[in-house]
Amino acid sequence: MMKKGVAIFCVLALAVLLAMGYRREQDLRPQVRIRMATGGESGIYYAYGDALAEILEKNMNVSVTAIPSGGSADNIRLLRNGRADIAFVQNDIMTYAYNGTNIFSAEGAFKELSVIAGLYPEVCQIAARRDITGVADLKGRRVSVGAEGSGTELNAMQILESYGMDYTDVDVDHLGFSASVEAFREGRIDAFFCTAGVPTPAISELTGEGGAHILSIGDARIRVLTDQYQFYSPYVIPAGTYAGIGADIQTAAVKAALAASDRIDEETVLKIIEIIFGSRDEIARIIPEGKNLSRGYAIDGMPVPLHPASEKFFLRSR
Ligand code: GLU
Repeated sequence: MMKKGVAIFCVLALAVLLAMGYRREQDLRPQVRIRMATGGESGIYYAYGDALAEILEKNMNVSVTAIPSGGSADNIRLLRNGRADIAFVQNDIMTYAYNGTNIFSAEGAFKELSVIAGLYPEVCQIAARRDITGVADLKGRRVSVGAEGSGTELNAMQILESYGMDYTDVDVDHLGFSASVEAFREGRIDAFFCTAGVPTPAISELTGEGGAHILSIGDARIRVLTDQYQFYSPYVIPAGTYAGIGADIQTAAVKAALAASDRIDEETVLKIIEIIFGSRDEIARIIPEGKNLSRGYAIDGMPVPLHPASEKFFLRSR
């Protein structure tokens, strides 16, 4: 009897010692610093980034700094000039950056860029005064096309183009989401573009107050847009998504993805992916877009190469 007690004690003591050794080894590894480029403080990128920072810090030995920015195009530049390691970026913007085309033609191809994972649909929304009934009515009105450095602005330009319009047809302003809400309330703008996860708080605020509705993009124009630019897919915002909007709204969507530059090491990226995809419910509780996390969505429609860690996680472990 006594011998058995001693044996159990020895086994327990050994387990404790091993666990202590393991902990010490973990503590000795230097903490990894991750700089994550997000977006404007009233957007989804920023809130999602905040949630990820908290979850990653809780589950691995890292310190994560969420950097506010103008949006996707800004984030590409932060990755490129080494001021960020990972970033939220629209898949269309990411592809132009990788290939050095469209808005990145002057900067050239950014081949050190890769996709960690696609996260959720970003819907091209145009909030407008109620007397504006369609995109064509934006002619001559004061319109915010998104912050400088946003992906929203490129979507605004392409949507206007699908209606045969450009910046000479509207009175253009460059405002982020919260500045747009303020300008709309104060009567300084009549409409604003917003490419973001749905529902977007900036838009909910205005539809809830009754001053704004969301413009639909007609079938023919959606076809022009999707034929011309491969990243758009048709998207319907269901009736009731926003207070005060009782009908479905037809528009187009791109995808929000997490991107990386070559500066961050593969082991760290693999750990990040494992934690994100193992924390779906926790993320979704903090930020509704979290419910879109799936292994299929993560790699679908991504014309930029997957990060080697993502290949390992999403492709080889199938
Ligand atoms: N997709 C937006 C952009 O890059 C930002 C969205 C957000 O901040 O949630 O313009």
